[in-house]
Amino acid sequence: MKISDECIACSACIDECPSGAIQNAGSEYEVNGQTFAALSEDHPFVVAELCDDCKSCTEVCPVEAITPNE
Ligand code: SF4
Ligand code: SF4
Repeated sequence: MKISDECIACSACIDECPSGAIQNAGSEYEVNGQTFAALSEDHPFVVAELCDDCKSCTEVCPVEAITPNE
């Protein structure tokens, strides 16, 4: 999944994600013990390696900013 610039940073999706795949804007994240820089400074972002495409996040987003990867 990916989060577009339509996102209003309400954080609802972060709480909803069962995999911890959605990180806050500007947060470093960790995959397999390696740390990476934030993918967005402006709004929450999805870490593809942690996302299992359950789509729970899309149901809570008020502005439909979360869409499947092409
Ligand atoms: S699709 Fe599921 S696992 Fe992926 S970011 Fe959304 S809630 Fe998290
Ligand atoms: S639920 Fe939607 S608007 Fe809210 S932080 Fe997530 S992507 Fe952004």
